[in-house]
Amino acid sequence: MLEQTIQFGANACQFFFMPQDTNKYLKLTDKDQEAFLALKHKHKTTVFAHSSYWINPASGNPASARASHRMLKQEIEIAKKLDINHIVMHAGSAKGHEKEAGIQAVATLLNTVLQDEKEITILIENTAHAGKTVCSNLEDFVALQSLLTTTNVKFCLDTAHAYSYGYDLKTTDLFLKLLEQTMGLEHIKLIHLNNSAKPSGSKIDQHELPDQGLIGETVLQNIINSPKLKTLPIIIEPPIVSLEELKKTVSHVRNW
Ligand SMILES: [Zn+2]
Repeated sequence: MLEQTIQFGANACQFFFMPQDTNKYLKLTDKDQEAFLALKHKHKTTVFAHSSYWINPASGNPASARASHRMLKQEIEIAKKLDINHIVMHAGSAKGHEKEAGIQAVATLLNTVLQDEKEITILIENTAHAGKTVCSNLEDFVALQSLLTTTNVKFCLDTAHAYSYGYDLKTTDLFLKLLEQTMGLEHIKLIHLNNSAKPSGSKIDQHELPDQGLIGETVLQNIINSPKLKTLPIIIEPPIVSLEELKKTVSHVRNW
């Protein structure tokens, strides 16, 4: 992945700790670690790791909460070995209890795991789903922030998720104002620049390349170039496309 990022002329990338086709954590050999670190440092690439979807921070099930705690600790260890400072994570679904209790569970997990943590920041990402999913509704970020005792939690804005959940990104000024009042623009540290294949309000998470899909290219351009967001790193999470098309998209978006 890192080699490909460099080849694409990009300076940031993101990978999953647990590839979705294996459901097992990546095995890291000393040789892999050495090669990764050498390349990362040589090219000064910013690398984000994405947490496994098996971690459900909002769950009300005690066994699931213990598993989330254990897995997140494991991920932090892998991140440190690879000199990665940011882990992107979904807040999950408040299974087995009310949504408010789910937000509390997310805060408890983060406060516990990040206590005394200096190197790792966890970026909670907004998601697209409804029901008991936590942090799809941007208001949930206000509640979450009020419960955090750690300063090592920041946020990741996914434009496709916000759109499919039901936010109107086309009135960009109003959307930015809403972000200011919920996530807080200064707390957003990463943008997942995705377009959506499904309409706003569908709550279906199906990404499109930034210059395709229903949100519109100009809308996304306006968001990433807004004064308080324009210096943030950007990650594209593409649907399945050819490497050639992906490379073209990366160089296209770098000119936005
Ligand atoms: Zn995302």
